[in-house]
Amino acid sequence: IERTLALIKPDAYPQHKDAVLARIREAGFTVVQEKEVHLTREVTERFYEEHRGRSFYEDLTVWISSKPIYALVLEKEDAVKEWRNLLGPTNSEKARAEAPETIRALFGTDGSKNAGHGSDSVASAEREILIIFG
Ligand code: ATP
Repeated sequence: IERTLALIKPDAYPQHKDAVLARIREAGFTVVQEKEVHLTREVTERFYEEHRGRSFYEDLTVWISSKPIYALVLEKEDAVKEWRNLLGPTNSEKARAEAPETIRALFGTDGSKNAGHGSDSVASAEREILIIFG
């Protein structure tokens, strides 16, 4: 049994929260913790520190900290991989072309505004859950 951090980003929250939650439950995840959060720029920069210096870092951190988002700790066997599969490809356009049933295909906007976040490893999940839920 594994845990991962899921974020519903500002292009999908609050409008698509219920639809995303329905998919999470259908896929068999247990929601361990959940809350609306409005991250500060400082916390957002810590969260995305591995991307510091990349072309999209500025826009991404400004956007994520601009409005409330929804954070969840999800539990399931293979939760990290399973949640990323449910999200689909990082780029929402690519998701629409290649994986039309995924969350990013359905609710994402483009290559950066892509409806959701999922931790990329168990270690990242632990780090990210600590940042968001303390
Ligand atoms: P996430 O970590 O949010 O689940 P990911 O692991 O699929 O997404 P990463 O490569 O870790 O993607 O990038 C983190 C986030 O940065 C992406 O979700 C997206 O919002 C943004 N991003 C990544 N690559 C690009 C890019 N080339 N152009 C614009 N934004 C990008």
